[in-house]
Amino acid sequence: MTALFVADLHLAPERPTITRAFLDFLAGAEAADLYILGDLFEAWVGDDDDGPLARAVIAALAAASARGVRVHFQAGNRDFSVGRRFARETGARLLGDQELISTHGRRLLLLHGDTLCTDDVAYQRFRRCVRHPLTLFALRRLPLAVRHRIARRWRETSIRHNRNKPESIMDVNEQAVAAAFRDSGAQLMIHGHTHRPGRHGYRIDDRHCERIVLGDWSDAGGWCARIDDAGSLELRTLPI
Ligand code: MN
Repeated sequence: MTALFVADLHLAPERPTITRAFLDFLAGAEAADLYILGDLFEAWVGDDDDGPLARAVIAALAAASARGVRVHFQAGNRDFSVGRRFARETGARLLGDQELISTHGRRLLLLHGDTLCTDDVAYQRFRRCVRHPLTLFALRRLPLAVRHRIARRWRETSIRHNRNKPESIMDVNEQAVAAAFRDSGAQLMIHGHTHRPGRHGYRIDDRHCERIVLGDWSDAGGWCARIDDAGSLELRTLPI
């Protein structure tokens, strides 16, 4: 079966053309495995979000699932509070932070990509704090309006901080990449997050490995990696 991989759509009410493009992409997806590798949403305040964007995307994913698309969802740094209700309503399977799968005869490691950016020490500290089970537990109990406010503040802070960070620390750390290949035994890795689409080859302990980086979706276009039935992989752009 064909496998499709997307990440970093950053769907938001202010970007209706991207939402439209994603809904068209879903409607056109043949029976396939669809892997969403994080940051589908610019912000996810909780599965009880009753806003039009959240509901439209949930309905479209549910329709795709009903048509035979197998949807797999991995959380990103923006939508890490996606939970079981979302999975139930969309028919998606929730993936762990590092998911090792076997596809087309290859061991493939799927991750959002933020955990590979180990040079960004401040971000890694923030991540540990907000992804802590106690933080998630407390967040879920806040009223929806308060969670919207917190999400907005986090986004503003992140934009301000990232402006002042050197380009290099926003990319993956090569030692972290090598360690991920070694620890998992994967030959192939697909991730997003850095918004630097490309294909990178490695030699790890005499094994040939490849890292595919998905691009983010913007008015300039979307990105998707596709593995066809024969096992050949391509990283392609999609018109928006
Ligand atoms: Mn991200």
